[in-house]
Amino acid sequence: MRRKMQAKIEPVIPAEILEQAKQSISPDRLRKAAKCSVCSADTMVLAGSEPLCWVCRRLKISAWREIEQQAPMQE
Ligand SMILES: [Zn+2]
Repeated sequence: MRRKMQAKIEPVIPAEILEQAKQSISPDRLRKAAKCSVCSADTMVLAGSEPLCWVCRRLKISAWREIEQQAPMQE
């Protein structure tokens, strides 16, 4: 009795397509060099998002939290 399914396993995705996929999602396409809108530091920004370096982004997020914490909860 012969086995038709041998150990040779074909790759599910051809190498060419894999390579194309890698190129299509390369950081150069998703991100672009930009200046932070707050401190003008060089930063990489995702297309469509606000140009903020990671420092200012953090400051902004922490500022939001402070505002939320300072908001009076009187009812
Ligand atoms: Zn900044």
